[in-house]
Amino acid sequence: MSNEPTPANTSPTGQRNPGDEATPGAPQTGEDVCPVCGGSGKTDQGTCANCGGSGRIVKIVGDA
Ligand SMILES: [Zn+2]
Repeated sequence: MSNEPTPANTSPTGQRNPGDEATPGAPQTGEDVCPVCGGSGKTDQGTCANCGGSGRIVKIVGDA
């Protein structure tokens, strides 16, 4: 039995933010302005947690 703590969503590659609908670079996705911070990457509390401070989120666009 190992007591190792499992790292939660902190892989060095394929970084994903809570506001992302898909992994960056995935097909049929695009970047959009973060609706929480409006693209500034900051909120009253500091760095926007929704986009991770990037001001953009990854959105599934699809082409139906
Ligand atoms: Zn944001």
